[in-house]
Amino acid sequence: MSKQQRSSGKQACLAALDHWRSSAGSERVLDVRWLVSGTEVPLEYMRLTESAGVISDVRPIPDSERQSAAPLMLMPPLVNSHTHLEFSGLSEPLGPRDSFAGWIGTVLQQRNHPERDSAVEISKGLWECECNFLHTVGEIVTGSEISEYPESQALQKVMFQEVIGLTDSRIDEQYSMAVARVQQIRASGRQDLLAGLSPHASYTVHPDLLQRLTALSTEYGLTVAMHLAETRAEMQLLERGNGELAEMLQRMGLFSARLFPGGRTICELLEILAAAPRALVVHGNYLGPAELKFLQQHPRMTVVYCPRTHAWFRHDDYPLQAMLASGIRVVLGTDSRASNPDLNLMQELAFVMQQNKWLKTEDAVSMITQQAAAALGCRNSATDFHAGCAAIGTLLSAECDDQSSRQLLATGAMSAVGRLEL
Ligand SMILES: [Zn+2]
Repeated sequence: MSKQQRSSGKQACLAALDHWRSSAGSERVLDVRWLVSGTEVPLEYMRLTESAGVISDVRPIPDSERQSAAPLMLMPPLVNSHTHLEFSGLSEPLGPRDSFAGWIGTVLQQRNHPERDSAVEISKGLWECECNFLHTVGEIVTGSEISEYPESQALQKVMFQEVIGLTDSRIDEQYSMAVARVQQIRASGRQDLLAGLSPHASYTVHPDLLQRLTALSTEYGLTVAMHLAETRAEMQLLERGNGELAEMLQRMGLFSARLFPGGRTICELLEILAAAPRALVVHGNYLGPAELKFLQQHPRMTVVYCPRTHAWFRHDDYPLQAMLASGIRVVLGTDSRASNPDLNLMQELAFVMQQNKWLKTEDAVSMITQQAAAALGCRNSATDFHAGCAAIGTLLSAECDDQSSRQLLATGAMSAVGRLEL
């Protein structure tokens, strides 16, 4: 395809979007080449009519008018379920890739670098999210203040306050910090922030602290996100009480044979998390049959798969098919630029679709739209483009219109060009 064809496709999309915006206030019509709702098979050549922010009619574009439809794709609002924006200034992922404890060491060095300004890193990440027209981002907040996230109604931020506390003496202090952060977000009155909690991981959070945080999430109606079953090293620490994470904790003076005697399982942590209104099991790369069975029975729990991060660490094959076949909700996240080349959710989707030819387009899209919004407990992002739904969504531009929506999405050829908004 020539450069000229590429730019004319995008220009036609931008012109259609301009026309839509300039007609605000009256009944207006949007013609799209592909309508990908996330709940039904993608539809082609569809015409949506909007009135007062609500879709009033959806029908096929008449045959005689189809050639003038721009190569636009409409999908529900985009949701990145998991990232850490504090590393958004990195130009490439960190190493080493073959030692998780080594990688954590590099991440900590990065975080503690004297010349690093977390507000600058976060603003780069927010900019990248907005350039990709994300509607919502699930952000793990570690040491940052909420003032480092400038107010912007265009991007909803679920602020998962990270909590790290392995020793008995840290439990009260970390719990109080979490309560204060939740109350601060509530008191800020900001409509673009939603409070959440993130007990970091099995190897950094005391089970008693996890229990208290889960109770806190119930009290305030919060979503909880926890890194779980992420690496073989983590499984070894729980199951046998040794390995590189045990050694790392020993070097930090944090290892406790009482906490890690061996014989522990991910299931016991899932049982605690199950009490939360909504829980995200972040990564879940090494979830086994017992954990999958547990998740299958707990629909308020969701697995967050970060495909390119999973590939970066060269983990074992991801159990995506087994999860979806058993009805477990799986959504996608980018994780941070410390383990991913960028924060582009459409590239994450393309990667998953390439790797999993059996995956239906609508189910793949739902992992970055409706299912993700439900998993995070987001407001105002539910639509499947039927008459009566709010007229919200993400508009993407294709470079050409002679491929199927699946081919375009799986090759990463679609790029977001705007939002359909009220
Ligand atoms: Zn993470």
